[in-house]
Amino acid sequence: MTFHYHDGHLYAEQVPLEQIASDHGTPTFVYSRSSIETAWDCLDDAFSLRPHQICYAVKANSNLAVLDVLARRGAGFDIVSGGELARVLEAGGDPVRVIFSGVGKQVWEIDQALGAGIGCFNVESRSELDKLADRAGALGTTAPISIRVNPDVDPGTHPYISTGLKENKFGVNAEEALALYRLAADHPALSVIGLDCHIGSQISDIQPFEDALLRLLPLVDQLQREQIPLTHLDLGGGLGVTYQNEAVLDPVAYAAMVDKHLGKRALTIMLEPGRSLVADAGILLTRVVTLKENVGRHFAVTDAAMNDLIRPALYQAWQSVLPVRESTPSERARFDVVGPICETGDFLAKDRELSLVESDLLSIGSSGAYGFVMSSNYNSRPRAAEILVDRDQVIVVRERESLSDLWRGESTLPS
Ligand SMILES: *Cc1c(COP(=O)(O)O)cnc(C)c1O
Repeated sequence: MTFHYHDGHLYAEQVPLEQIASDHGTPTFVYSRSSIETAWDCLDDAFSLRPHQICYAVKANSNLAVLDVLARRGAGFDIVSGGELARVLEAGGDPVRVIFSGVGKQVWEIDQALGAGIGCFNVESRSELDKLADRAGALGTTAPISIRVNPDVDPGTHPYISTGLKENKFGVNAEEALALYRLAADHPALSVIGLDCHIGSQISDIQPFEDALLRLLPLVDQLQREQIPLTHLDLGGGLGVTYQNEAVLDPVAYAAMVDKHLGKRALTIMLEPGRSLVADAGILLTRVVTLKENVGRHFAVTDAAMNDLIRPALYQAWQSVLPVRESTPSERARFDVVGPICETGDFLAKDRELSLVESDLLSIGSSGAYGFVMSSNYNSRPRAAEILVDRDQVIVVRERESLSDLWRGESTLPS
């Protein structure tokens, strides 16, 4: 068990969260190494029936220690910026297993990735294909590519994280993809190796993945007929997790579905999961600063806020709130758990039954993905510390920012 109660106290692996709070302060993101590893193994094992490579989507949680844990497991990495590539290399990730996604790759990022010798560029437009060919030619190398196809399926998720509909900015449609493949196949500085899609995030049903796959396979076969054989098919990320009561997608059923439709095609399956590998491996540990009541509504004001964890404010996301010390049911009330930021949208949770006194500790669940990485310094709040727990070991994997970090690189006017 990664996060669990023992004698009424909440633990991360073998470490009481109260100890982390008293040694390192709050707000703090706490990650469990074994939880990341278990999620990785589960998905990796499910796809073991076929050649496959899982490329962790770095944007979900890009802490060097998290990347290190996954790199040691044999992970590849799906990056969307030069900054993410630099992190992967710094953490010891293998550049050959890096794939580069994103609609707006800049020349410096393309050059950096070509220089590092990454495994594949997921190309999202004609303009990008031309730019990539130019840069690879100029640098005397060839760029391995796949085209990101937008299969026009509705993943049934929040509109902000739905990316596979034809009106989205991502990828190209299947006809345009075929034209781009023909161009790329004839270009000496490009090497066609794969086909890519990514339809959205927090998907709890296999059907959209199946729809997407069935729209991609005719293109795979067409390319084969045109002597443009592919070596891999990248199905993207997007596997959902349970925040409240969502069904989770069974990786074994997912793998079986893919296996069935691929049939005899000799393609390596690539996946780009982010959230499903790290969401449940992290919590946000926060302390109640103030309790107050306004016209019958109870507020627990915590030292964590929307700048630390923006998902509730941005996507109206629901995340669990657990007391770090189990409370007696008799003294409960319904609380809105809010931060101190000057925005009514600054909440972590609404209408939760809790028993609280000031200075109590709370654990906001499933904060390992799209938590710290989306944090900011809004209201001049130093960003939270990040801690990785490995059995009984507590490793500070990012120090809490200091006040002077807040203006690093800034200056007042010259005198
Ligand atoms: C965000 C993203 C992912 C990861 O999505 P998850 O929902 O976290 O699994 C994978 N691929 C691409 C191209 C992305 O933009």
